[in-house]
Amino acid sequence: MSKLRRRNNKPEMAVRRLLYARGLRYRVCFRVPGQRRRTIDIAFVGARFAIYIDGCFWHGCPEHAHLPKANAGWWTRKIAMNKARDAAVNEQLAGLGWTVLRVWEHENPHAVVSKVVAALEGTGKEGPASRGERDTRKAPSASGRVHVCPSMEA
Ligand SMILES: [Zn+2]
Repeated sequence: MSKLRRRNNKPEMAVRRLLYARGLRYRVCFRVPGQRRRTIDIAFVGARFAIYIDGCFWHGCPEHAHLPKANAGWWTRKIAMNKARDAAVNEQLAGLGWTVLRVWEHENPHAVVSKVVAALEGTGKEGPASRGERDTRKAPSASGRVHVCPSMEA
């Protein structure tokens, strides 16, 4: 059953905690500009840098997306639609001058954070030394509630 959950946010939380620990500040569930129903998992607004932690099942990870045998055709179409939507969001964001990084939930959070830091340094707009924005909210706690975006995932 757990593999059918719409969002498994543990990998996202792990990445967020590591980013926070590095002094990076970000927004979560940040709305894609001009889109009412689309959000960015982790957004560095100043740097226009978007991170998506894609669930292996829902986004069709080549290694882990084993479709249920029942209704295989329906699932295939469903996952294909999700992937098409991902691609559309990438395009929208790119058109707005955003850089998009998509990672799989199975990826090592430390490796993900290294990628993010390198990419942010590439943008030259954001980093621990020059924070583009303030975030006074509390750090995500290790035992904290799993955060779920209220929108999308339809
Ligand atoms: Zn995977």
